[in-house]
Amino acid sequence: MPDTGKKLLCGMDPDEIKSLANCDISAAKVITNCLYKKRIADITRITGISKQLKEYLSEVAYTGLLNPVSCQKSSDGSIKYLFRNNNPLEYETVFLPGDRRNTVCVSTQAGCRMGCPFCVSGKYGFRGNLSAGDIINQVISLPESGILTHVVFMGMGEPMDNLDNVIKACHILTAEWGRAISRRNITVSTVGITSGIKRFLRFSDCNLVFSLFSPFEEERRNVIPAERKYPAREIINLMKSYPLQKKRRLSIAYVMIDGINDSDKHLEGLKVLLRNSMIRVNLLKYHQHPYDDRAPSTPERLQYFKHELVTSGVSASIRRSRGEDISAACGLLAAGLRDDLMNSD
Ligand code: SF4
Repeated sequence: MPDTGKKLLCGMDPDEIKSLANCDISAAKVITNCLYKKRIADITRITGISKQLKEYLSEVAYTGLLNPVSCQKSSDGSIKYLFRNNNPLEYETVFLPGDRRNTVCVSTQAGCRMGCPFCVSGKYGFRGNLSAGDIINQVISLPESGILTHVVFMGMGEPMDNLDNVIKACHILTAEWGRAISRRNITVSTVGITSGIKRFLRFSDCNLVFSLFSPFEEERRNVIPAERKYPAREIINLMKSYPLQKKRRLSIAYVMIDGINDSDKHLEGLKVLLRNSMIRVNLLKYHQHPYDDRAPSTPERLQYFKHELVTSGVSASIRRSRGEDISAACGLLAAGLRDDLMNSD
């Protein structure tokens, strides 16, 4: 959409629409319902508001709903979509079908500036933040939008580095006048920015996953750049001390790399770190990419970690790996730049 000076509706809440359109709050909620639940892309087709309001709104605003520009399907059924906004930034979104749940994994930034070495999005570099509307659009403009049950913020980008837009997107996705998805079915993932996590826990009721890598400070500092500024121990203590609201889930993601962080010593370290807490552990297979020679831990090792954690009283599960063959799995999203990256080393 060329710059016409019109305002973008996708990403607005009823109060913002009320002041933009000079209408009452109930009419504004009719508009958000049509936008976020029914995905009506043309303002003149919105039902339940006056003709004058539609005409005025069409003069000053546009919905800004964008379809994906391409897609790739995995042999396991997951589908990766490429979106391009008007800036133009490119970012990827993954649909993960399941027996009992259908999940969309959304991006919060084009690229990422956190620089985790095992993640291709970090290699992509930072291109820009996505607006709340860009984030929501990945949910409502997905071809499978109508059958979605869960949303995870685990695509490209560090959500705590774009927190205002992430909190606003969570708010609109969970609101009755918005998409009305249960907050229990929305999970935001972070590699750890302490101040952002504090704000997230205060201003959103959605679930949180913290990516740990190692229970040992020095080892984590050598690998995860964020550890130098935001120590994991501080973040775990924050999670432990958080008064858990009913059903809100705080978890740790632990990506297991063969011979790097899957020893018995690491297992004991995890047990000690998480003892007497309600924090759950998600064990993940490492997804190898072309830029390093690290290999995933064996499935047996993941099972062993899970068994040992559970029998020691730490809640643990193994997250199923999806979409590896189309570079849609955790840590592999790179939008349109994958080939450039592969040729650059
Ligand atoms: S793992 Fe997450 S925070 Fe780290 S570089 Fe990748 S997208 Fe960014």
